[in-house]
Amino acid sequence: MNIALVTGGSRGIGRSTSLLLATLGWTVAVNYARRADAAEEVVEQITGQGGRAFAIQADVSDEAQVMAMFAEIDRHPGQLTALVNNAGILFQQATLEQLTAERINRVFATNVTGSFICCREAVKRMAFHHGGKGGGIVNVSSAAARTGSPGEYVDYAASKGAMDTLTKGLSLEVAAQGIRVNGVRPGFIYTEMHADGGEPGRVDRVASGIPMQRGGQPEEIARIIAWLLSNDASYVTGTIVDAAGGR
Ligand code: NDP
Repeated sequence: MNIALVTGGSRGIGRSTSLLLATLGWTVAVNYARRADAAEEVVEQITGQGGRAFAIQADVSDEAQVMAMFAEIDRHPGQLTALVNNAGILFQQATLEQLTAERINRVFATNVTGSFICCREAVKRMAFHHGGKGGGIVNVSSAAARTGSPGEYVDYAASKGAMDTLTKGLSLEVAAQGIRVNGVRPGFIYTEMHADGGEPGRVDRVASGIPMQRGGQPEEIARIIAWLLSNDASYVTGTIVDAAGGR
């Protein structure tokens, strides 16, 4: 049995990814940070359809919690062969002048350090030289890594740029170990991350500025992630797929 760990697998893009991977036969470890109810709902939906999944709590910005999460996964039947580094945070719009060190550190601790640590622990379990059978990693970046999000979320954009560099570098480091590392850069996707922030009409305004004139659905990103993890992408590594409606 192959286990796929989806960080932030309980809501939004992670939720859609968990549901899709389960239908493709993976045992899904549905990670969450705070909302156990959301993770349990995903697990119930999967098991209700005859799939395999379990919820697993860990704040990915906390190394001890990540270590405990992987130790718990080790106790489940099956082998970890997929990791989706999807957990991510974004704060309110701010100019550089308004950015505090605390905010920048929190964004990087979750989006970057959390992804690094999860990669490290996953590679330990997947690598041939550790007795693993290889595997796949997908890092969920953002179109913001390309645009830089000036005046809005430069901290977030920079963290996603760091994730892209992680994808490139790690893909080369572990290629000979049978591990493929890829990424996806979603544009504007309809999830709770984009509640209108008290600014009615913001979501529609953003969508109208996208060449395809709409935001994306979480399922449209989940399908890319599932493809990157599948054997159909068996010769693809170090690739980051843009999925931003032409933005
Ligand atoms: P949501 O806000 O809808 O969901 C976030 C998920 O991540 C939740 O499951 C949440 O769990 C979990 N999470 C948050 N912080 C942590 C943490 N420290 N440790 C573990 N889990 C955590 O996010 P989206 O689905 O919108 O975004 C998913 C990813 O896609 C992110 O990396 C985001 O940057 C990226 N992305 C999203 C875009 C969008 O337009 N939505 C565009 C481009 C990229 P809990 O509920 O328990 O807190």
